Amino acid sequence: MHTAERKPNNSFFARILAAVSALAFCLALSGCRSEMHERELFAMDTFMSLRVYGGEAESALGEISELITRLDGLLSVTNDESELSRLNRAGKAEGLSPETFDIIRRALEFSESAGACFDVTLRPVMRAWGFTGGKHRIPSADELSSLLEKVGDGGVVLDSESRSVTLPDGAELDLGALAKGYAADEAAKLVNAGGCTGALLNLGSSTILAIGSKPDKSKWRIAVKDPAGSDAAGVVAIEHGAVSTSGGYERCFTGPDGRTYWHIIDPRTGLPASNGIVSVTVLTEDAFTGDGLSTALFVMGPEDAEKYRRTHGGFEFIMLMEDGSIFLTPEAAKVFTPQGAYAQAEIVTALIP
Ligand code: ADP
Ligand code: MG
Repeated sequence: MHTAERKPNNSFFARILAAVSALAFCLALSGCRSEMHERELFAMDTFMSLRVYGGEAESALGEISELITRLDGLLSVTNDESELSRLNRAGKAEGLSPETFDIIRRALEFSESAGACFDVTLRPVMRAWGFTGGKHRIPSADELSSLLEKVGDGGVVLDSESRSVTLPDGAELDLGALAKGYAADEAAKLVNAGGCTGALLNLGSSTILAIGSKPDKSKWRIAVKDPAGSDAAGVVAIEHGAVSTSGGYERCFTGPDGRTYWHIIDPRTGLPASNGIVSVTVLTEDAFTGDGLSTALFVMGPEDAEKYRRTHGGFEFIMLMEDGSIFLTPEAAKVFTPQGAYAQAEIVTALIP
């Protein structure tokens, strides 16, 4: 009797045990699948850190590193052998790589929409200031005005069939305002193709792209740098999207006159854009638009930046001002929390009526 009763019990426990083991195995597997894989690299003149979760994270990281290194090799203006440097020297090139042609085409489209504040042919002016690879100096007003005659991306001619680009006489391309954003969006395609569940791609803190979700489904928390210190000025908490920052503090020098000169140039004057902004952080879906906009809005100045947003839409921004205040657009106000030296900052939410 006892034996007869035990038999079914044994098989019942055996089944439970099997089910529990199977569940534990699945959990272990899914634990592996959401594991974080991390990589750091130096490219595009900056330190980058990449975090990818789940799927084929490790091989996605390898592909992303190769992609960024390849784009850097094509687009760098400090490398004389890059495809962009060769185009700049010759003034014309045919049969460009698909990536170089694609970013130039998209850069010109973006520039047209951003207006006079954004110009991808600023290279001669950047060189005169010694930004990106040179020795810092302050060009004279005469030098700047003669260089500005060569600047103007409206005159760049593209032919998509032969992937050829022809530059106006003396103009040279500088894609520094967009290259990292372009690279981040291309990297996102590799994250998705690798079946990964999420990623945080930090291409030099000024271009950060959050993809998918974290294993615990909490929001991505991205720090906005305090330009004056090592602490953060605040944190942006988002589900996904790009957080792009441009600031005068990123690449700058102090002149013999004691003034600070930075690398974001107003194409109308050839001078560092100066309109009371310390940094602009832009929130967008894609990193390319965010990267371009952060530079363009910095040049536009607060009021024009807000007018541009109301006309074009599709983005939000956080502007740290020289007087210590912070301007927040409506959606940015919902996701940004000031902290550190900015914890008590005056928050402005209406720049224009
Ligand atoms: P960072 O490269 O430091 O992250 P940005 O995204 O703002 O900062 O890009 C600045 C770079 O953009 C400059 O180094 C220069 O290559 C380019 N640039 C500067 N001013 C302009 C402008 N008005 N329009 C287009 N490109 C610009
Ligand atoms: Mg930019």
